[in-house]
Amino acid sequence: MAGGKAATRLWPQDSLTALPGIGPALAERMANLGLERIEDLLFHLPLRFQDRRRMLPITVLRPGMECAVLGEIVDLQRQQGRREQWLLRLRDGGPSTLTLRFFHLSPALRQQWHSGRRLWCFGELRSGLHGLEMVHPEWQIADRADFHPPEHLTPFYPSTQGIHQQQWRRFIAAALALLPTLADPIRDLLPGWPTLADSICYLHRGAERAPTPCDREWQRLALEELLAHHLALRRERERETTQQIVACAADARLWQQLRAGLPFFPTAAQDKVIAEAVADLTGSRPMRRLVQGDVGSGKTLVATAVLLHAVAAGMQVAVMAPTEILAVQLYERLQSWLAHLNVSVGLLLGSQGLRQRRAAMTDLQEGKLSVVCGTQALFQENVEFSRLGLVIIDEQHRFGVDQRRRLLEKGNMPHLLVMTATPIPRTLAMTLHADLDLSTIDALPPGRQPIDTLVLADDRREDLIQRLHHLLAAGRQVYWVCPLIEESELLQLQAAETSYADLQIALPDTAIGLMHGRQRSEEKAQIMEAFRGGELRILVATTVIEVGVDVPNASVMVVEHAERLGLAQLHQLRGRVGRGAQASICILMYHAPLSAKARERLRIMRESQDGFVIARKDLEMRGPGEFLGVRQSGERQLRIADLFRDEELLDLLPQLAERLEYDYPEAVDLLIRRWLGSATAYAGVG
Ligand code: ADP
Ligand code: MG
Repeated sequence: MAGGKAATRLWPQDSLTALPGIGPALAERMANLGLERIEDLLFHLPLRFQDRRRMLPITVLRPGMECAVLGEIVDLQRQQGRREQWLLRLRDGGPSTLTLRFFHLSPALRQQWHSGRRLWCFGELRSGLHGLEMVHPEWQIADRADFHPPEHLTPFYPSTQGIHQQQWRRFIAAALALLPTLADPIRDLLPGWPTLADSICYLHRGAERAPTPCDREWQRLALEELLAHHLALRRERERETTQQIVACAADARLWQQLRAGLPFFPTAAQDKVIAEAVADLTGSRPMRRLVQGDVGSGKTLVATAVLLHAVAAGMQVAVMAPTEILAVQLYERLQSWLAHLNVSVGLLLGSQGLRQRRAAMTDLQEGKLSVVCGTQALFQENVEFSRLGLVIIDEQHRFGVDQRRRLLEKGNMPHLLVMTATPIPRTLAMTLHADLDLSTIDALPPGRQPIDTLVLADDRREDLIQRLHHLLAAGRQVYWVCPLIEESELLQLQAAETSYADLQIALPDTAIGLMHGRQRSEEKAQIMEAFRGGELRILVATTVIEVGVDVPNASVMVVEHAERLGLAQLHQLRGRVGRGAQASICILMYHAPLSAKARERLRIMRESQDGFVIARKDLEMRGPGEFLGVRQSGERQLRIADLFRDEELLDLLPQLAERLEYDYPEAVDLLIRRWLGSATAYAGVG
């Protein structure tokens, strides 16, 4: 069959097995790398390049270098040892010689390699007994007509077991031959840019030097990749919002009532965002809005205001939080705010007893509950709503697109409001969240005290305890956080228990609580309540308290092993304090020695309190791949583009996307398929 294969004309869309030399076994290996069609090979870019064109004089060679040498054979010797070896000495115009060491050498070769012949070789240099040597270098006889020193850089491809570099080079060369037939749908939209074909060709071959991300060709591919992601998100949004819904009137009565009874005024920033979301509620398309606001900016109140408009319009509202502690806290906050407005609020958790959960579910189904708070349990199959009109997701970076869709399916085109405390720059947000409109709460409530951040080695624990002693005596409440130990919840728990025991000994007159992920939710709620009420003065906890927990009187935060945490997490943790009228303190304890990155993170934490600045630094330090990964749990990874490095490209996306969608909708499918593959949830229509 192989002969038949070669005879047919190939297209980039053909499956890999259409290429001569790729059978089912090899195709399967390549599929593991995400390569299915010939076209995919074109986007399988080299990891690095070798420069075999670079010929150096022997005198300048040093161990560890990888280069080509052209010289004259001085002699060839057989060396007897445990294994037979052949040592060939080369000399160029200079005083030194280079040894080439071979373990197998056929007699035919030995005869060719007589003194005086010129030899070209390429390999890595190391220092041997006889000075510099190369072991089994690549070579060519250089004084013959068929000598062709390499003209291009040599690419090295990401590979997998059982596929050699030579195979990659051969298959990719075959794919490159098909470049003229590769669709380039955005070519006309990008005057002055290199074409897709030229860019791909360049990225596989390089030119004088290896390609770098600054090259226009690289940027061209990055742009196309970012555009594909942007288009996919826009399509997702389109899918969710094409259906018209019955517009509702903005009924502000309930919200006005709550507002009038608050002990503070909403900030202008809060009012602005509330107005934006309420305008969505009265539109004929479902709201898809992301509210970003730094830790402590008062997102809960914003959500509550929007929720009250929806309830006044007769809708049911589901509020989803990433953890049970947060769901319970939201529930309690809403209950206290909404009780006198006669709005019924329920709670639905996975850990609830069956009877309790059934009761909440029945109330929901029968429409007795207007608002329900909960965790993922909210979108379990058997949960039904009678008139779900608005879904609010708090701290959304923990939810994937899939989960969100499941929740939305519970209603008839419900509105969606997501809130996040991981603020990112606007252009970035517009790209990552092209499926959402964006509102930003850009100011904190007035009177917030700056948080004094100290970084302390953990061998100064004694001093710290002394200091806590004074702070406690002055009526302060303290969080003491024991973070993740290598992702193990059990170890984390042990660490928290140890610190809990130590603190009880060190501060015997202080009421101390312990909270961790393994407690039942009632237990957690009780402990939280005792801390909020001031009966507990210190709360030792694992990172379960990372997001959202709100106890304004707590004004001291101690974080053990702060060096293990990322910037976003540290900022979240620190955001638990600084919420009341008192000046707060955050003590980041570390265990020496610090890695350079950890030192940098702690420095940033000491110097900045601005969530936007910190998110930005986080992005710089971790790289956006990981940043994206957090949101999408690995669903969408960028292969070529880098959100941070290529940020300037983001500005181009909305306009390009609009023109494509309007003029050339088939291209949208093509680009999404090309860059996101068929495995993605939102790639197809189904
Ligand atoms: P986050 O945005 O981190 O979710 P929260 O909604 O938990 O913040 O609000 C933080 C604290 O600020 C809460 O105690 C809340 O009651 C309070 N708060 C919210 N809005 C205001 C405001 N306009 N003025 C004063 N305090 C406010
Ligand atoms: Mg919150």
